[in-house]
Amino acid sequence: MPSTRYRCTACGNLTRFDVTSTVRSRAFHHYTVGGELERQDVEILNESVEDVSCRWCGSGGSVVELSADDALAEPQEAPEPA
Ligand SMILES: [Zn+2]
Repeated sequence: MPSTRYRCTACGNLTRFDVTSTVRSRAFHHYTVGGELERQDVEILNESVEDVSCRWCGSGGSVVELSADDALAEPQEAPEPA
């Protein structure tokens, strides 16, 4: 599953964000005899991101989502249209 990348346009941060999301998941709950729980094989069925804010400057309004291409490509000029 491709993970979403973000960028803060205010400070340039690419790596530290506070993300608030609602996750629907299924997991194998493995209990010890003592009742201690270990969650295994966690499968994310649905994830809905509600809010992303920059960890450095605290700004939520300046955070933009990077497309897969943006995240992979080195910054370069767009090719001229044919
Ligand atoms: Zn920032």
